[in-house]
Amino acid sequence: MTFSTLERFLRYVAIDTRADDASSSCPSTPGQLVLMRVLVNDLTALGLADVSMDEHGYVMATVPATTAKAHVPTIGFVAHVDTSPEMPGKDVAPIVHERYDGRDLVLPDDPTAVLRPAEDAALAACLGHDIVTASGLTLLGADDKAGVAAIMAAVEYLVAHPEIAHGTVRVCFTPDEEIGRGADHFDVGRFGAICAYTLDGGGAGELEWESFSADAMTVTFKGFNTHPGYARGRMVNAIKLAADLIHRLPADTLSPETTADYEGYVHPYVIDASVDRTAVRLLIRDFTVAGLEAKEAMIEELARAVVAPYPQASVELRITESYRNMRDILEGYPEVIECAREAIRRTGLTPIERPIRGGTDGSRLSFMGLPTPNLFASEHNFHSRLEWTSVQEMNQAAETIVHLCRIWEERST
Ligand SMILES: [Zn+2]
Repeated sequence: MTFSTLERFLRYVAIDTRADDASSSCPSTPGQLVLMRVLVNDLTALGLADVSMDEHGYVMATVPATTAKAHVPTIGFVAHVDTSPEMPGKDVAPIVHERYDGRDLVLPDDPTAVLRPAEDAALAACLGHDIVTASGLTLLGADDKAGVAAIMAAVEYLVAHPEIAHGTVRVCFTPDEEIGRGADHFDVGRFGAICAYTLDGGGAGELEWESFSADAMTVTFKGFNTHPGYARGRMVNAIKLAADLIHRLPADTLSPETTADYEGYVHPYVIDASVDRTAVRLLIRDFTVAGLEAKEAMIEELARAVVAPYPQASVELRITESYRNMRDILEGYPEVIECAREAIRRTGLTPIERPIRGGTDGSRLSFMGLPTPNLFASEHNFHSRLEWTSVQEMNQAAETIVHLCRIWEERST
């Protein structure tokens, strides 16, 4: 199979779609709408009839069924158009390093930005591939324009090959995944699929269907402020209470910097401080709700111990749910995962299944009634100026999509 991923990818990364947390509009930035309109045009050019963009910028389209069977379910493919706010995404100048020969890749606009296969096993494994990087000053945007390109190329292939029997295939391109809002306005009912696959993963063969469960916790210390010249025996400094809490956190465990695989953590990441009142914001992560609750109970116990010696001081704790492990839902739909494994194998790859130490739009979509695991799209070093992708891996992602459409048809009546 041959796919048009590279040509599409190069066009899509030229558009600045950096998301902006500070904006309350949807999409958060106008560049995302520019790319959405390009995708509407591209889908229309492929001959799809019902291409639509809603008022929030979500683009949906349908590849009509080609099967003669009556009970083939509708499945969907989803990718996000925005890029991380952590890195500049304007004036991306992609470079295609054809038939990669294993040398260090020095990015020309900043010679200190160097991709070294000795430090990057995934790159070393892509010998002979066409590698795409940025030029050193920006991210590349493979997260997730590699996924967008893979879906578009697969749609093009399906349209050009009506002899491939498949059911109705829905595609959706979403905004603002990187700021956690990608599922906010996703109309699951209108999408109308029994399951979907996000194309937003790493190297060839990756299949992800477990994610963190996540809560946000705010611990607010109230102290007692008075003129510091006359404060003896009276002042209780809330900044010092907060510092005491941070100090009491375990040094060797339960932090992002000391955990991996299935271990969760507590992560203080913002402190809003004054003598009178200091709020510590923490991210709580685990793969089970029981694990989250245990960590939250630990924080509460430590915080109460901090204020216990001070009758004038108090502490308030607030917990808000962020997202939940999609495994809780996907376990109920083993065929969704099994079809993905089979599609990866038919592409000539071995499925690599690892828990995501984070969340994806699929975590939220799964809980909104659309079971959605995540497939590889050749995203490497994402959110970094050393971001890169492989054209061959993008093509394998597109091929996996085509196989998935076939497999769901074969398994239906
Ligand atoms: Zn992504």
